[in-house]
Amino acid sequence: MTDPLHIRLHDADTPLDPARWGARGARLARMAGLGLPVPRGMLISTDLVQRIHADGAAVHFEGELTDRLAALGDEVLLSLRASPPRPEWGGPEALLNIGITDARLPALTARVGRPGALELYFRLIEGYGTMVEGLDPEDFENLTADQVKYWSVPSEGDLPESARETLVEQAKALYADETGAPFPQDPKAQLTAAVDAMARGWNGTSARILRESHGAPPEAGLALIVQRMALGIGAGVSGAGVVHLVDERTGGPAVTGRFLPQAQGYDAMMGLRTPQLITREAREAARQSAPSLEEMAPDALTDLRGHAVTAAEGLGDAHGFEFTLEDGALWLLDAVLSPRAARAAVRIATDLARNGAITREQALLRIEPRTLIEHLHPQIDPRATRDVIGTGLPASPGAATGRITFSPEEAMQMEAQGDPAVLVRTETSPEDIRGMHSACAVLTVRGGMTSHAAVIARGLGLPCVVGAGDVRLDLKGRQIVGRDGRAFVEGAVITVDGTRGEVLAGSPDMIQPELDGAFETLMSWADQMREMGVRANADTPQDARVARDFKVDGIGLCRTEHMFFHEDRITAMREMILADSAEDRRRALATLLPMQRDDFVELFQIMRGQPVTIRLLDPPLHEFLPHSREEMGDLAEAMDLPVSQVVERAKALREFNPMLGKRGVRLGITMPEIYEMQARAIFEAAAIVNTSNLEQVVPEIMIPLVSAQKEVEMVRARVRAVADAVMAEREVALTYRLGIMVETPRAALRAGDMAENCAFFSFGTNDLTQMTYGLSRDDAGRFMRDYVNQGVFAEDPFHSLDIEGVGELLLLAAKRGRARNADLVLGLCGEHGGDPGSIHFCKLAGFDYVSCSPFRAPIARLAAAQASLLSKAD
Ligand code: PEP
Ligand code: MG
Repeated sequence: MTDPLHIRLHDADTPLDPARWGARGARLARMAGLGLPVPRGMLISTDLVQRIHADGAAVHFEGELTDRLAALGDEVLLSLRASPPRPEWGGPEALLNIGITDARLPALTARVGRPGALELYFRLIEGYGTMVEGLDPEDFENLTADQVKYWSVPSEGDLPESARETLVEQAKALYADETGAPFPQDPKAQLTAAVDAMARGWNGTSARILRESHGAPPEAGLALIVQRMALGIGAGVSGAGVVHLVDERTGGPAVTGRFLPQAQGYDAMMGLRTPQLITREAREAARQSAPSLEEMAPDALTDLRGHAVTAAEGLGDAHGFEFTLEDGALWLLDAVLSPRAARAAVRIATDLARNGAITREQALLRIEPRTLIEHLHPQIDPRATRDVIGTGLPASPGAATGRITFSPEEAMQMEAQGDPAVLVRTETSPEDIRGMHSACAVLTVRGGMTSHAAVIARGLGLPCVVGAGDVRLDLKGRQIVGRDGRAFVEGAVITVDGTRGEVLAGSPDMIQPELDGAFETLMSWADQMREMGVRANADTPQDARVARDFKVDGIGLCRTEHMFFHEDRITAMREMILADSAEDRRRALATLLPMQRDDFVELFQIMRGQPVTIRLLDPPLHEFLPHSREEMGDLAEAMDLPVSQVVERAKALREFNPMLGKRGVRLGITMPEIYEMQARAIFEAAAIVNTSNLEQVVPEIMIPLVSAQKEVEMVRARVRAVADAVMAEREVALTYRLGIMVETPRAALRAGDMAENCAFFSFGTNDLTQMTYGLSRDDAGRFMRDYVNQGVFAEDPFHSLDIEGVGELLLLAAKRGRARNADLVLGLCGEHGGDPGSIHFCKLAGFDYVSCSPFRAPIARLAAAQASLLSKAD
């Protein structure tokens, strides 16, 4: 059977295709099918509208179509509405009250009273004149200008009936003057002309350009809806309104909306008169004297609540309604998706799935993973006024207000006094970590998405803006100067919005995060669906505890360098670095060994048998050295050396380009004692935990910045020797896995060789992006906004994986690695591990896990579940 060209709204027994019947048309037919009170009517398909456009409506308005229209009732008035396949594609405005003529006026008067009938007639002439004949709406408005306040309240009858009659006559005269013909007195002629006008309007050049700019294809058609008018003007309780039945903020039940008596269409939203509220409670709270809908028509509110349940189940989402009351009878003109904040979206989706309106899979796919940050971090209230003083990169989400400090030590003191501190630095370095722990937010004027401040702040769940180039840091004057020249001295209150990458003056209102039951439910469903592991980048016991709370599958990256910055260790570390013989170095390392072992014991205990991947020391050693003369002096004393010698040795360590210098495995090759100490600490800790715990640890040791196979072989041999020694000394058997970070392009290219000696690869996409682009991760913030704004890069590649370039290296390395070692485990531990798009890519590339900061783990868990669902759907 060929597709019908038109259909009665109440006849559709299967869901209609919005491409053919328009979104609203398909929805109304579905609502009618669910038994909701939708006025009777019919749909005209996009095909028929195209034919009408070619031949004129009159040709097609014969036979069955006319019969269907006639079946709506001879005396009824009709509405004609555009129904584009997508609402954002626009479409002509609706024409209401079609069918009023001089001859039908008495019958209408009998139904709605004389003032109402005249009001409706005027509205039709005005709407028809402007929509069909292209008359100037202002000419009609001028007719009513001095009486508008009465005119829009017909039932109150303040406008004398004679004046209303005069207005209708004036409108007819205006119409006749402008068009050269009287206002049409045949209802069918009115309808056909209106349909022709809509078909014409849709096919006009400007309408086409406009909708194509909203993504409509050139062949997009328009469907039309002809419906019996539900008259909101007339006897009894009549009027029009909108209602929503879920709380926009929480997603729980709530009734909001407006109702305007003696009104139709969008009158309630037009601000002509003050609309009335829906519930008595809302009216009392707003101290409105006009009664609420609940007080005027209690049954209507009860019905609206019931219809919302039906619509949610039948349409698969929470909907409110545009409705009309016609002499007390409730009619639904449309169902409108309930607006919702991110938190509400989770509650709505899980409620719908629990009630069986949608599946769990659909619920999971409905939530944009990134929006979960609203559950995890405080945010600036969207209604708050934002006094922005500078912008940078949104390095770590959430917002916090505090006083400016430029010193990490002071941040610590402020924390002790309960005074929130915003730590402002040019850039942060590992020495600042304790200050960052104490701060409520961090702002740096330099840096990119994977610079030190960004990575650490994300790990701590601390709001952070980096690369705020338009904020000037005046350290001499102890102040920052905003982009508009305003100065904020040390101690001034500012707010860092790490979600938007903005710095604000003062303390705007905040919304606190909340991990409610709906969030937990969604997360548990995500865990059931996802196939990829989600681990955390966690360096300290504190991080590991947060990671466990966020239900990760292990630690994918423990950056051991952070363990050396503790006050009680940094001196031994510095002595080790500045030692001029392997023997002296060993002595210093012997001091560090028990401390490092205790760290790992604690980590293993917290993670209770889950995988823990420990990365051997990575950063260039100069990062650990003191900068001030005073600190140099202290170190010299500790080492029993003249200051000049300490300064000399420190100088000798300086490099032109330390990020590409002696760091990562290059330290392990040239100073093997360091990695040996770390390996020993790991194995001794594993031995301790395994003898006291049921859950056995299988430590994963990861070598950073590898670029040659030989590096892996050499470190592997030494690690094995240490493992054998510890097993012999402690008389235990230990298993462990050794793997590498693939973070240099050469390691990716030579992945086949590397895989032979590795149990796993973990892609360090921060360094890999830096080296693939030849773009410093610490300096990218200076121009990244410009690059993204000008479309040079679609997105910051340090934030969202560059699929085309870096992604190709990942695919190639995965393929070459697995070809040589089928059991090779593949993971990703760069900052991209918390980015939904990058996670999807990892799933497609066959990765086993991603690892990200603990606070991003929920986002990653949901994104991984979505990636699994979508890959099954493909
Ligand atoms: C990386 O390079 O992606 C990585 C995880 O290591 P880091 O950020 O510590 O260099
Ligand atoms: Mg790295």
